[in-house]
Amino acid sequence: MRPTPSILAMIERLVGFDTTSHRSNLDAIAFLQETLEAFGAKCRLTYDDGRKKANLYATLGPDDRPGIMLSGHTDVVPVDGQDWTSDPFRLTERDGKFFGRGAADMKSFIALCLALTPEFLARGLKIPLHFSFSYDEELGCVGVRRLIADMAGLPIKPTLCIVGEPTGMQVIAGHKGKKSLSCHVLGQESHSALGQGVNAVEAAAEVIAHVKAIQRRIRREGPFDSAYEPPYTTLHTGTVEGGRALNIVPRDCRFEFEIRALPGHDSDALYQEIVSFATDQIEPEMKAVNAQSGFAFHIMNDTAGFDLPDDHPAVRFVTALTGANQTGRVSFGTEAGLFNQAGVPTVVCGPGFIDQAHRPDEFISADQVAQGEAFLRRLMDHVCL
Ligand SMILES: [Zn+2]
Repeated sequence: MRPTPSILAMIERLVGFDTTSHRSNLDAIAFLQETLEAFGAKCRLTYDDGRKKANLYATLGPDDRPGIMLSGHTDVVPVDGQDWTSDPFRLTERDGKFFGRGAADMKSFIALCLALTPEFLARGLKIPLHFSFSYDEELGCVGVRRLIADMAGLPIKPTLCIVGEPTGMQVIAGHKGKKSLSCHVLGQESHSALGQGVNAVEAAAEVIAHVKAIQRRIRREGPFDSAYEPPYTTLHTGTVEGGRALNIVPRDCRFEFEIRALPGHDSDALYQEIVSFATDQIEPEMKAVNAQSGFAFHIMNDTAGFDLPDDHPAVRFVTALTGANQTGRVSFGTEAGLFNQAGVPTVVCGPGFIDQAHRPDEFISADQVAQGEAFLRRLMDHVCL
């Protein structure tokens, strides 16, 4: 089944904006705002520090009662170094698939919201509809935090939110949280033949090995939740950088690691365990040689996980809209964790598949667009007169 022409045209339009996270998204936001304001939407913008990027929060329908929020991020991951068959920023159809950066993640969902807005309005909204379109999601849900802070000042909050990340229209009622962490180890340089100095690489290695040891313990002892794959909190070190030459005791070492915690598993405590190991077990020996040496940990990003029970009203409502009777849980993060943390019950459900995103020749199938459309039409039956 071919997507409705107005929906397809809107996907094409949105894919045409190069909103790679490191670029400005203001052209795309201006387009979204103009389109929605032409339909009478009330819009609020929140900007990043440099005013190069913005979130858009739009309300359609009555503003004296809580509504339903549909949420998506406007930014996309880079195409650099990827081998694309066609121009990533021009929607291209081949065999019932629509290729383009963001086609799955997640411009088709935003396009569906926009393209169906005239119909929502024509039928008359009795329950308000809110759109939340954010920036810098792909950098760790960075932008939406300002939108959420701004929402806190609004007199009425939405009753529930649907984040339209590509889930193949499955309702995702929980995902893990993620802490992105870095550590700079400062040692003291020396000629390696002298047996002096403070070896920053070795100190880092001991902490990295401890991160691994914690992972082994969790894999053995839990906590476990079989709804997630893998069913436990994961930790790993992703990058390490240090040393200048084999015959120099290295002064600096930097590494980055992460904790993806099951909802309810205290990732702060795990992080503290790692910090304490470094400062209590490793650092004294370093400081005995050079008092300046030691560890400097830094939390680069912290995104909350969430888990709503299957009988939560928001989960039941969205599940009913999809017609499914099952929910899922995933290990990757979305903005849903932050919305839930802010008190807006939120699930994830949108067209397309995550494994078709973030890669060259990202696409969404015609069928998924059609399913997304059907979903929003059932929402229309609920929120319209
Ligand atoms: Zn996404």
